[in-house]
Amino acid sequence: MSINVHNISKYYGSQKALDEVSFSIKSGEIVGFLGPNGAGKSTMMRILTTYLNANEGSATVNGHDIKTAQKAVQQSIGYLPESNPLYPEMYVREYLEFSAGVYHLKDSKNRITQVIEATGLSSHESKKINQLSKGYKQRVGLANALLHEPQVLILDEPTTGLDPNQLIEIRQLIKKVGQNTTILLSTHIMQEVEAMCDRVIIINKGNIVADDYLKNLKSDANQIIEVEFDYKVEPELLQQISKVREVTEMIHVPEFTYSLKFATQEDMRSAVFDFAHDNKLKILALNKRNKNLETMFQELTQE
Ligand code: ADP
Repeated sequence: MSINVHNISKYYGSQKALDEVSFSIKSGEIVGFLGPNGAGKSTMMRILTTYLNANEGSATVNGHDIKTAQKAVQQSIGYLPESNPLYPEMYVREYLEFSAGVYHLKDSKNRITQVIEATGLSSHESKKINQLSKGYKQRVGLANALLHEPQVLILDEPTTGLDPNQLIEIRQLIKKVGQNTTILLSTHIMQEVEAMCDRVIIINKGNIVADDYLKNLKSDANQIIEVEFDYKVEPELLQQISKVREVTEMIHVPEFTYSLKFATQEDMRSAVFDFAHDNKLKILALNKRNKNLETMFQELTQE
């Protein structure tokens, strides 16, 4: 396991920011750490990067304990904090040279050239950081996080404040980097996870409320069929509808429309059609939609 978190709790005074959080991440995974503002994402990331101590629980990064082997943890992690702390007066290459010095990197010149190329900064390496757009500043932050060839990257809201084009570029870059690195990235936007991640861990008020691969979550998402009949269905027949195979919930949407929720991905329109036919009901409209991940996230994190 690249990251192993076991029952981590964190208090700020009397406020509990993390409540016995546990998860593990296998090497090579790109995992989205998703939750509304204030859910505890940054706190968890700061604990994993050893910038903050947990009150309870334990965690390892690449097998190194965050309490007893902080240096080894820091060496295996590249971290892009939420507010990317760059030196605005430095030139891009100069800043990376400075960082490489802090890491005591050997052969730093070649490594800097490599990360500059990998993050698409070649044409900007001689520019001052404060002359760069937000998207390019994020690239510099990523280049800096990658300098010491960490096996794990922790990116705290890496795309916040980027315009749509910059967003696409940074997402592509993260995916590219993720081909050889384990990545845990936080965001409060589900689309972001869909664009970059294999798996999502959803946190709300310091508790993990979902942890699964996107493909499973997509297949778990309920199927909803809205059916409109030509008149209001008699109560006895309504009882029958709710017994159609796999129906988990039925809502009457005025006037003659019923919304049926199914716990299956199999297209259930034909079952509804057969039901109508057997009971001599006329269908005026039949629509299928799948509950998308965005709705699922809202439901898991609402008050
Ligand atoms: P997220 O990154 O998901 O937005 P945070 O980890 O920043 O959430 O915050 C989790 C909770 O802890 C929030 O309620 C926040 O107000 C609180 N919190 C975060 N940092 C501090 C701090 N330094 N002092 C007091 N409370 C904090």
